[in-house]
Amino acid sequence: MVVGYDPPPGGGTSRCGTSPGGRKGSQSPQGGTPRGRNGSESPGGGTNVNIVSNSVPGATIHEAASPHQAGVQRLVRSYAAVPPGATVRLAKKSSNLFRARDATAAPGLDVSGLTGVLRVDVHARTADVAGMCTYEDLVAATLPLGLSPLVVPQLKTITLGGAVTGLGIESASFRNGLPHESVLELDVLTGTGDIITATPDNEHAALFSSFPNSYGTLGYATRLRIELEPVAPYVALRHVRFHDLDELTATVAAVTAARTFDGARVDYLDGVVFSAAESYLTMGMLTEETGPTSDYTGQQIYYRSLRQRSTDRLSIGDYLWRWDTDWFWCSGAFGAQHPVIRRVWPKRLRRSSVYSKIIAMDARYRVADRIEERHGRPPRERVVQDVEVPVERTAEFLRWFLATVPIDPIWLCPVRLRGERTWDLYPMTPDRTYVNVGFWSSVAQQPGQPGATNRLIEQQVTAMDGHKSLYSDSYYPPEEFAARYGGARYDAVKAQYDPTSRLLDLYAKAVRKK
Ligand SMILES: Cc1cc2nc3c(=O)[nH]c(=O)nc-3n(C[C@H](O)[C@H](O)[C@H](O)COP(=O)(O)OP(=O)(O)OC[C@H]3O[C@@H](n4cnc5c(N)ncnc54)[C@H](O)[C@@H]3O)c2cc1C
Repeated sequence: MVVGYDPPPGGGTSRCGTSPGGRKGSQSPQGGTPRGRNGSESPGGGTNVNIVSNSVPGATIHEAASPHQAGVQRLVRSYAAVPPGATVRLAKKSSNLFRARDATAAPGLDVSGLTGVLRVDVHARTADVAGMCTYEDLVAATLPLGLSPLVVPQLKTITLGGAVTGLGIESASFRNGLPHESVLELDVLTGTGDIITATPDNEHAALFSSFPNSYGTLGYATRLRIELEPVAPYVALRHVRFHDLDELTATVAAVTAARTFDGARVDYLDGVVFSAAESYLTMGMLTEETGPTSDYTGQQIYYRSLRQRSTDRLSIGDYLWRWDTDWFWCSGAFGAQHPVIRRVWPKRLRRSSVYSKIIAMDARYRVADRIEERHGRPPRERVVQDVEVPVERTAEFLRWFLATVPIDPIWLCPVRLRGERTWDLYPMTPDRTYVNVGFWSSVAQQPGQPGATNRLIEQQVTAMDGHKSLYSDSYYPPEEFAARYGGARYDAVKAQYDPTSRLLDLYAKAVRKK
């Protein structure tokens, strides 16, 4: 069965949540995307998006054959309208990027027509998804069909394109790896203004391989075809407490290898460290069995439940979004966990996108820094990072972190590459288990040394043969950055797809905050 979703003209959300009875799309000969009225196949063979170009003098922009094509063409036109030399940015309502960026007066790229789910093929277990579709909308389209993306990042407004170009991770990553590993093909607006389709083995295979972790510097994904997996309606949880970090990480390694714990199947695995003597692993098992479920979108708070109960049950939807309601535990900083404030805080506004907007306002108006100044204290250094450390060194890293950086709780999420394939800009070794360690807070700035704690963490992670994702502040010197994030391979792909560096380069974006 194929279920088609056409995003409405002019953008807006997809018809997510449409049940299997939704409007049917027609299937291309490749079993690929539905064809629009005048749709033509791209050389990549998988899409009905017309080839459009503004790089060739005199090139024509074809009429749109579908709302999605119209959206792509609006993006291409808006790209052409950005003045030469001006910074190119997406005009998106939300962002989960955490580094400060230089202000720009240039108009953002029009992505208003690229926010929907285009098509779900239930038999093939694939979805064609517009590049700026949020996981919230994507999951709302697939769950009623009993399917889910292989990895669903925890924050609802993370988009598929954002998670593939900026990486993502979740509790299925110990068996499914990272979101880009379930991408079958993607359409990209390149720096030259062309729309191309990249697959693992076509003429754009080098772009396919370098796209993950390129943060929009090689182009913007306009459509991605991804694999889906079957899911059950409920997740049964088991929270296991550890008093010792070595014991915790040994269990992570064992569960990741066996995909079982105490004889029960494990489908999802993550953990939280409150201190060296108090940490928890949560094992989730998909189940069809009906029964009472917990609700952490109301007065109850999910992360606290880890310490209060050893078993739990959630609907699959509530499980996937369990961390969004309170942005893990970070909503506490805004008072949202105080029982009285929580009662009056509208439920629909208890979500990560609201808290991140508050943070953005604070950064803009320096509210927190002014308060620190008034109390005679140094400004705060933001330490918001996710790093990956090999599992055998994770306990050592955690002990170092707890002794050096005054931040807790800490989130843990084991990850293993899904297959043998490696990725140019984020080198991980196949068949090796890593643990993502996430910490999101701030520390007192060391006088005259902004970024000193973040830099210390980078050095420690490197020393432990780990690596760091780039969504937040980075301080690597250029040579170290090149050695860790693709170097010459990136340069070669960059020269082909963005030869005039219209889209900036990765170092400028990730470290120089452009
Ligand atoms: C506090 C915090 C915690 C986080 N925790 C997690 C986590 O636990 N799990 C997880 O999976 N991720 C996590 N992330 C990281 C997040 O997944 C990445 O930052 C991701 O890139 C955000 O996607 P977005 O759609 O919000 O993109 P944006 O924030 O809008 O953009 C991010 C970057 O990607 C580029 N970009 C966006 N869309 C596209 C596209 N379609 N094609 C090409 N480039 C594009 C933008 O140009 C920009 O450089 C966290 C981020 C923060 C701030």
